[in-house]
Amino acid sequence: MLKTISQSFEVQFMTTQELERVEPDQQADPMEENKRKAQEGQAAIKRLAAPVRGLQRLGQAFVIASAILTTAPYLALVQLGDLLLAAHSAGTAVDADRAWAVIGLLIGAFSGQLLLYFVGLLITHVADLRLRDQLQRGIAQRLARAPLSWFTESTSGLIRKGVQDDTRAVHTVIAHGPVEILNAVVTPLALLCLAFWLDWRLGLLSIATIPLHMATYAVSMKGMPEKTAEMDAKLAKVSSTMAEFVAGISVVKAFGRVGRAHSAYVDSADEFSRFFRAWALPLVSISCVSMAWISIPLLLVVNLGGGALLIQAGAVTLPKVLAATLIALVLPGAVQVVSSISWSYQMAGAAAIRLCNILDTPVLPYPETSQIPQGCTVELDHVTFSYGQTLAVDDVSLALEEGTVTALLGPSGSGKSTLATLIARFADPDSGSIRLGGVDLRQLTEETLYSHVSFVLQDAQLLRATVRDNIALGRPGASIDEVREAARMARIDDFVMSLPEGYDTVIGTDTSLSGGQEQRIAIARALLVDAPVLLLDEATAFADPESEAEIQQALSTLVKGRTVLVIAHRPAAIRGAHRIVVMERGRIRAVGSHEELLDEPHYRALLHQSGELRTASAEEDHR
Ligand code: ADP
Repeated sequence: MLKTISQSFEVQFMTTQELERVEPDQQADPMEENKRKAQEGQAAIKRLAAPVRGLQRLGQAFVIASAILTTAPYLALVQLGDLLLAAHSAGTAVDADRAWAVIGLLIGAFSGQLLLYFVGLLITHVADLRLRDQLQRGIAQRLARAPLSWFTESTSGLIRKGVQDDTRAVHTVIAHGPVEILNAVVTPLALLCLAFWLDWRLGLLSIATIPLHMATYAVSMKGMPEKTAEMDAKLAKVSSTMAEFVAGISVVKAFGRVGRAHSAYVDSADEFSRFFRAWALPLVSISCVSMAWISIPLLLVVNLGGGALLIQAGAVTLPKVLAATLIALVLPGAVQVVSSISWSYQMAGAAAIRLCNILDTPVLPYPETSQIPQGCTVELDHVTFSYGQTLAVDDVSLALEEGTVTALLGPSGSGKSTLATLIARFADPDSGSIRLGGVDLRQLTEETLYSHVSFVLQDAQLLRATVRDNIALGRPGASIDEVREAARMARIDDFVMSLPEGYDTVIGTDTSLSGGQEQRIAIARALLVDAPVLLLDEATAFADPESEAEIQQALSTLVKGRTVLVIAHRPAAIRGAHRIVVMERGRIRAVGSHEELLDEPHYRALLHQSGELRTASAEEDHR
């Protein structure tokens, strides 16, 4: 029972966290919600296990055979007992041949039963390994084709959990569940049949206390769903007051109000602990009574006591009583195995749902063969894109002319990064189209697209791999000379050569790099791909003041002759761009060169904001 409370505590705590992610109207009835989740979980387990269902069934067949064979040693024990008793009462020697035959049967049946169980378990483990392999491949394939906009912080947590923990949780129910639950049900049933076969009265004695155990258990479980729902609500309150307290801790501390802010959390924690004590303490007493009914001393008293009376009445023999008593001792354990496996099924249900969600990730469709872009002009044609309800890019039409630098300028959240990543097809627009050299991006294979478009974004995204592999990421076949040439142009070759392992140094393990060094490796990577269209984050140029000049040089080499889109953060940095596109709330507000835009109110506002307006006006006056 205590286990039941702590299990439901875990379930509820889990659901509390999950409920926080659920829409308010879906929280209306937590009990219904839990029931629905449990059903969904079981359906998800079924779906995941479908490819290995045949192996599971085979494993189960072995386990059924093993469970039936479990009765044989008991039967042999009774025979042996009868043999010994018969010899004892007749005052003759024991028939050694028959005794050895029975002992042989006992050992053979016991070993056979273990062997069958082992083979059953082995088969389901093979099924599990196969399934894990399929799942991990499935996840990898799916993620490789998912729109990059899907990879947010929450989804990366989901993936980590899916690959590491959830496959492990699902393992329990796939490798162990089908075998253990069947064993836990069939073995006691077979043993019970044996007990009744030995003598129906001994059979009844062996299960005499189980109805009492179940009745007290049912009393203790009364109102459990309502109580767990109430616990869920109270835990949710504790979590939210804790979250509020932690989120506002700096303000609270700064104003010396720790005590007061803390009190909301303490109150809700106190309320929860009062509720839990009032609920759990009586439950623990009933639970103890319930367990007492199936405790070993009581089972021995009932079975041996009742058996003695039956022996006295001449109804049964001592070996039969002993065998039935042993069976009575085994039965309650089986009930507990069933309840603990059902718990594993519940936990695995939640894990299986998460895995199915990952496997159902929407993917970007790519064509089998690519059309070939004619030239490298990028055209955006009435492009609109939203993240759920958030409209990030709103009906944008724009052309990036071949060989020119276009800068996107606008306040934070105006849609600059989104627009740039749409050109790299991190996601597809909701409406409108993006064309590269006259071909819609959706008509290009990944290979063609990324040999035409490369990017150096704010986060250099270096892998835990050698410097060489990091630079050659977009062209894995590149020779070391080509890699070094790109590194030289990116002004990072000297630094890499100064490392003890040179280009074989593993980033993140053998060495850690400064922001500027990481940026130059990212620039080398883009140079090696030599894609004609380049997406650039202006902030990259300011990652590391010490190497700013070198980065600037590397960047100017990179930009030369390409169609470039720069995400700009400061107007001063992109004055030289051929065209500046001013964005606000996902829309284009103005397009032109710095000089052309000097009178444009949105551009002026941005200049003003960055403190550059006075300089700009002075220049204008000067002219
Ligand atoms: P900028 O680059 O100009 O700062 P973004 O393109 O990053 O603008 O963001 C445009 C809008 O889209 C903002 O409202 C931002 O909150 C939202 N947004 C950006 N990325 C995501 C995301 N992964 N999920 C949800 N909303 C996002």
